[in-house]
Parts: sequence; C-alpha cells; structure tokens
Amino acid sequence: MTEIRQDAAAEPHAGDRIAARARALVRPLGVGLTLALVAVPAGLAPWQAIAGYGAFAAALLLWPSSREDARARARARARSRAANAVHPDFAVIEALDLPTIVFDRETQVVRQNSAARLLVGDYPDRASLSARIRSPSILELVARVVARGLPESVEHSERVPSERWHEVRVAPVNPGAEPDKRLYVLTYRDLTEARRMDRMRTDFVANASHELRTPLASLMGFIETLQGPARNDEAARTRFFGIMLEQAQRMARLIDDLLSLSRLEMRAHVAPEGEVDLERAITHVVDTLKPMANDLGVTIELALPEEPVVVTGDVDELIQVFSNLIENACKYGQAGKRVLVTVAGSDADGTHVTVQDFGPGIAKEHVPRLTERFYRVDVESSRTKKGTGLGLAIVKHILARHRARLVIRSVPGEGSAFTVKFSPAKPSKSTVRREIYQ
Ligand code: ADP
Repeated sequence: MTEIRQDAAAEPHAGDRIAARARALVRPLGVGLTLALVAVPAGLAPWQAIAGYGAFAAALLLWPSSREDARARARARARSRAANAVHPDFAVIEALDLPTIVFDRETQVVRQNSAARLLVGDYPDRASLSARIRSPSILELVARVVARGLPESVEHSERVPSERWHEVRVAPVNPGAEPDKRLYVLTYRDLTEARRMDRMRTDFVANASHELRTPLASLMGFIETLQGPARNDEAARTRFFGIMLEQAQRMARLIDDLLSLSRLEMRAHVAPEGEVDLERAITHVVDTLKPMANDLGVTIELALPEEPVVVTGDVDELIQVFSNLIENACKYGQAGKRVLVTVAGSDADGTHVTVQDFGPGIAKEHVPRLTERFYRVDVESSRTKKGTGLGLAIVKHILARHRARLVIRSVPGEGSAFTVKFSPAKPSKSTVRREIYQ
C-alpha cells in the first residue's frame, strides 16, 4: 500500500519553469553569449552587445512555448489523477463493513471507510487520529503498535449514547517499508450483541437458581423440623406437609415454564403452519379457567365476531398465550371483578384479541419490562398468586414465532388491556373447526 494523498501535485511555479527552461537551453544561450562577446572587439558598442544578448536570452526563456506548457500541464493533471484515484487496497477497505482507519507513523489519518465514518465521525484531511478517537486506551495501543511494529488489540466500551463494546485492533500494514512510508490499520469489531447475550444468560441462570432455591430452602427447613421438634406433633405435621406440597408444586411450575421457554427458543425460527379457530381456542381456555375465576369472584365475558376467525398457528401454543393473559387478568385485576375478552378480525388490519381487566392497572415505568424473564411489578404478590415471573416472557416468545405482537395498555386505577395482534393473513376456512381438541 502506498501513500496517495499528494494533493499538491499541481502545475510547477513560473520561477521553476524558467529555471528548467534555462537548463534545457544552456547551449543556445552559451552560443548567444559568445557571439555578443566577439561582437564587441568587432566594433559593436558594449551597451549594444549587452542589450542585444539580454533581448535574445529573454526571448528564448520567456517566449510562451504553448505546446511544451500544454504537455507539462497534461503530465501534472495525470499525476494528480493517479494520486487521487482510489488505490486498490483502499477500495477493499471501503467495501468492508468493519469500521477501518488507515494512518501513518505520525498517526495522521490516511483513509477511513464509511463504517468508520459512521462510528467515530468524519476525519478532516490529514487529521490526527486523536481528533476523533479520544479513548486513552486506544491511543496508547496505537502508540505501542507504532513503536513495536506488532499487532495488538484492546477491548473498549462506551456508555453514551448507548452501552457498546468493541475489540479495537491495530496492526502494521507494511512493516518492511521505510519508516516514513509505514502505514497502520485500526479496526473495530463489535462485541455488543455477544456481551448482551452473555449478560442475559448469566442473569437468567442467577434468577432461575434463586427462584428454585427459595422453595427448596423452605422444603429443607420443614423436613428438618419434622425430623426434630415436630416429630410427634400431628397437627404441625399435617400443616407442614400442606406447605411442603405447595413449595414442591411451585418448583414444578417453575421447571415447566423454564422447559417451555427453552423449547420455544429452540423452535424460534420455525414458523408454525397449522390453522387455529380463535373462537374455539379461546372458549376452551375460558371454560378451563372458569373455576379459578369463580374462586376469585371474577366474571369472564367473551365478545366474539359472527364469522369464525382463523389464524395460522400452533393451537397448543396459542392456548398457552390466552391462558396466561386471561389468568393474569383474573389474578392481578381481581379487584375489577370482570375480565373482557374481545376477538376482532379484519382482512386489512389482521386479527386482534384483547384481554381487558378493570383492576388496579400497571404503572407506566413497568409496562415495557413486563415481558422480561422474571420481571414482576410486585414479587410477593406474584408468588402468592402462584406466579413464576415467566408467563409473559413465554407469551412474547410464542407470539414472535407466530409473527404476532403483544401490545400492553394500562391506566393505573382503571385496568389493563393486553392485545395480541396477528398480522393479516389469508385464512382458509375449510379446516377451521377441526384442530382445537386434537
Ligand atoms: P407471573 O408469573 O408473575 O404472573 P407474568 O410474566 O405472567 O408473571 O407477569 C409478570 C408481571 O406482570 C406480574 O408479576 C404482574 O406484576 C404483572 N401483570 C401481568 N398481568 C397483569 C395485569 N393484568 N394487571 C396487572 N399486572 C399484571
């Protein structure tokens, strides 16, 4: 790779041009001088010889040689074009989506590609690397690589405007070149997504272990009590066995939900192909949840369209979605005593299913986080209501697989509405009523 930014490759100055022509015309100028010197003894006045030679030399040197000048100008233009053309190596850099900056020994930027321009900003001509890159760790890395001539990398993170991680690598391009011709390349490799996934995985394992450890600790405590002080206390034994059963059931629910999530993750990219009649699926869910709703004093109302509404999907998974939403509405919106489930289908907008409760609602700051694993507005209330904190995360995963969305609207004091929006599809009604209870 070679230095190409010789923008001053312009035409030569007038002084340089005359000097060059004097060098080229040294012979005729010499002959003229000899003639002038010989003419003086031959009778010419010295001032006439000097004036004559001056006029002759001026004419030779200054007479516009238009053809020669045109050739010189063409040569200069060609040099300038070659200098500004994209060197093949730089064309490769430009084609990369990896932010890349090429700089010289003085850390002056020679080239940056558009990905680098987007990441760090545009460098003015021949600006120093530090005009855009301020991070001391990157600048120290640059200094080390320039001094030692060996590639090195550092990890760099930023918090503003958003949290991002990069591996920044600096490597010499032509280590064998003369020192003032050496170039170096700085690249950024984005680690943000990988870091986020790592953090999510660690948080998830920590949360899942914590959720399992709580009922487990309680079970172990009761077992010890039953082996010791309560060994012969019949009444305590009966009560403790009841609590132990509840804790074991809580662990089983948690494990079921964790398995559901992992199964969904494995199939995340496979779109379901069946056809589901929503009226039948939702009626089935409501029938199953009625005993629980009755215990809570909640009435479930259904508003269904005249025509059957069919969506493409997996019937068991959609039943799981509506069970979670309707169960949550009954549990958390119990105070409103009513839950309204509305199915609305239209070819243009797609099908919407809304589960609405008239309970205490959810404060605005919680709404965007409700579908995160283990996120709960009130952990104690969720636990007493047999929640695992995974219900809405499962709903989100199932809907993503169905190319559907969950929209949550809530007004504190008035209640919440969870709407499932299926994208518009072409329903084929021939198989509609078959698949629900298979
Ligand atoms: P959980 O197992 O705790 O019910 P979910 O993922 O189903 O977990 O719900 C997460 C949290 O969202 C719940 O703990 C609750 O705080 C809140 N939530 C869900 N549905 C409603 C609702 N209809 N009204 C008020 N809060 C709700």
